[in-house]
Amino acid sequence: MIVAANLKTNFTRKETNEYLAELDAFVKAHNISQEVLVFPAPSCLDYNNTTVAVGTQNAYPAKEGAFTGELGLVHLEEFGIQTILIGHSERRHILGETQEFLVEKFNFYKELGFKIVYCVGEPLEKREAGKEVMMEYIDAQYRGIDTTYENLIIAYEPVWAIGTGLTPTLSDIEEVHKALKEKSSAPLLYGGSVKVTNAKEVMALNNVDGVLVGSAALYSEHFCTMINYAEEL
Ligand code: PEP
Repeated sequence: MIVAANLKTNFTRKETNEYLAELDAFVKAHNISQEVLVFPAPSCLDYNNTTVAVGTQNAYPAKEGAFTGELGLVHLEEFGIQTILIGHSERRHILGETQEFLVEKFNFYKELGFKIVYCVGEPLEKREAGKEVMMEYIDAQYRGIDTTYENLIIAYEPVWAIGTGLTPTLSDIEEVHKALKEKSSAPLLYGGSVKVTNAKEVMALNNVDGVLVGSAALYSEHFCTMINYAEEL
């Protein structure tokens, strides 16, 4: 199982380091063998020496250069970061990243052998328009993406479930995951309002290889409980 935390624009560097230290202690104390990934805010990347893998929430597809406000490869290399989140709905919908740009990022970091957590998911109106429309929308998010890339992890995150407390039913998650597994055999995470109260049943579903957690992961004890559930399954 892969248990991933997207910390978004939360925590200072000090708080992030404390958080990672808590996770590290938990993973060691409980001999956790699951893959634990954390995506801190960009300014919180640091020289961490932890059992927990740290990835970046974003980076520009360039080594360095004139890209104001962006991180380049040099900034990731400084801290040994080799994992990147691409295609998160907040970057697609709030920051306006297009599929073409995401493919550019994907290819750049793929060439470098990065582990890529690539997010897909439909907004509410597409879900409400029926399965065919919804799957067509998600299909378009696979356009240009090498679904056979060996270091690829896909996260299915319905946009309407992110940060809202709403989730699809367990059978809906299972149905979409089954369809997405036919498109790529890469590990497939579910994300969208995963909490301690539903994480175990979500992770137990067929074709769910782990979870990507936002809000609930901000509580280290909650996130550790989810890590423990993954270990128990
Ligand atoms: C996310 O942002 O990837 C996410 C799943 O957020 P939340 O758990 O808050 O819905």
